[in-house]
Amino acid sequence: MLPLPPLRRALLCQPWRTWLRWKSSAVVQVANEPILEFKQGSPERAALQQALNDLKGKTEEIPCVVGGEEVWTPDVRYQLSPFNHGHKVAKYCYADKDLINKAIQAALAARKEWDLKPIADRAQILLKAADLLSGPYRAEILAKTMVGQGKTVIQAEIDAAAELIDFFRFNAKFAMELESEQPLSVPPSTNSVVYRGLEGFVAAVSPFNFTAIGGNLAGAPALMGNVVLWKPSDTAVLANYCVYRILREAGLPPNVVQFVPAEGPVFGDTVTGSEHFCGLNFTGSVPTFKRLWKQVAENLDRYRTFPRLAGECGGKNFHLVHRSADVASVVSGTVRSAFEYGGQKCSACSRLYVPDSLWPQIKARLLEEHGKIKVGNPAEDFGTFFSAVIDATSFGRIKKWIEHAKSSPNLSILAGGKCDDSVGYYVEPCIIESKDPQDSIMKEEIFGPVLTVYVYPESKFQETLRLVDSTTAYGLTGAVFAQDKNVVREATEVLRNAAGNFYINDKSTGSVVAQQPFGGARASGTNDKPGGPHYILRWTSPQVIKETHAPLGDWKYSYMQ
Ligand code: NAD
Repeated sequence: MLPLPPLRRALLCQPWRTWLRWKSSAVVQVANEPILEFKQGSPERAALQQALNDLKGKTEEIPCVVGGEEVWTPDVRYQLSPFNHGHKVAKYCYADKDLINKAIQAALAARKEWDLKPIADRAQILLKAADLLSGPYRAEILAKTMVGQGKTVIQAEIDAAAELIDFFRFNAKFAMELESEQPLSVPPSTNSVVYRGLEGFVAAVSPFNFTAIGGNLAGAPALMGNVVLWKPSDTAVLANYCVYRILREAGLPPNVVQFVPAEGPVFGDTVTGSEHFCGLNFTGSVPTFKRLWKQVAENLDRYRTFPRLAGECGGKNFHLVHRSADVASVVSGTVRSAFEYGGQKCSACSRLYVPDSLWPQIKARLLEEHGKIKVGNPAEDFGTFFSAVIDATSFGRIKKWIEHAKSSPNLSILAGGKCDDSVGYYVEPCIIESKDPQDSIMKEEIFGPVLTVYVYPESKFQETLRLVDSTTAYGLTGAVFAQDKNVVREATEVLRNAAGNFYINDKSTGSVVAQQPFGGARASGTNDKPGGPHYILRWTSPQVIKETHAPLGDWKYSYMQ
């Protein structure tokens, strides 16, 4: 066997790699989208006010989009504005089993061509969508998120604009960089990895509370060559459909992502019952994810490939305060984390542990700040800190927790907690003190503006660390507030498994794409870290190709002669 001349060998092994490196570094230079301030007189404020005006009293008609067509079924539903439930913001319809099956067939028919497209071409579509969101559609997507999901200006901006744009841009960059990750080639062979989409269709099931998450759950698998059925949450259809339209306008071909609002169990049962089901990209509550996982297990013998299951679920997130903490940081961080978006962030702080020595000071400051929080209509009053909770079901659930606090001898309400659903689903920010660190209010996710404080003896910090770690089944986010570096080190060690996103002297919310990739383990989910470079690996099934450029020669080994 003749060795290849060095130049030819180098050319055979390298040129496409160099090209990809060049291409990815040349094309994808991204940074986090700047967060706009919406100050009085700013153009972004004027544009947003115009977009909010345009939505006043309007009901947008939103079809299912299946097989490249807009489809209406007789099962018509309405999305209501949380802070004014007399306003139907969207009229949409539920896909039934037959329509979902039709969507599966259309997805499978589109799969091959889409999967064979170069990653760079698919990435361009997400980059274009990000530009459309950043520019011409920014005000519209913000207004729809505010009116439909009850967000304030800043909460809509960090979600529907900044985070979604970041997801699209960074995933495009991560995908291009991933493609340039190639195995060693040793003469006379060249080795390469092809990042294929999964064989089948992916179901993306999204929650109400982040417009960005919906776009990412559908967008990231599509970027990696998958075909996706996207089932939005009933209470986020308006903004999610806007994202879907933007993806299509950016060049996403029909049937790569189909928009399929449906009743949860009907959608879940139908997709997990298909032999072509190959992935679930879910964000939502633990019971829903467990139900879907069990259905997958029951159907396992039917599938052509082992499905990938990604689920980012709830949290019972903590702020742990040490006596060396900076009190002002604790108070402002906790007010923001516990009450922004009415506590309806998976990362919201809902249990606060304070040493008895600091409690009088922290309590006084917390109550003072609590008195300044304005709850109201965020579209009409930009001074609103948070608005109504998402719907009647949430309102009822949160009210029950507040009633539990009223009736339990271990719990006392220190401030707030009034509930009024006459116009919207309003719940006052509520601060509760618990004498029992094991009360269910310290363990279970409430998903509302309710903060429970447990005051621990200052001398029992080590015991409290273990208490924080073991109280709840969740492990999503948490924060320690301490100036003492040894305490920070100890807390970081003991709480290693208590939070997938751990903060030191900062609040437990506000992760930023590419800066703090997000997710937790334990009951909080599969911790696949959307917003980080590894996330897209979940949505690809790599194929390795070895090509040999010289004749294979004799089958006998030389030592045998
Ligand atoms: P949810 O579980 O009620 O709904 C999530 C989605 O699942 C919705 O689209 C819903 O219609 C759908 N669904 C319900 N039953 C289904 C079934 N049987 N089969 C298929 N789909 C079904 O959650 P939610 O109220 O929309 O969202 C809030 C939850 O999401 C909270 O627990 C929150 O902590 C969690 N969350 C987690 C993260 C994270 O990154 N970890 C982010 C946002 C929200």
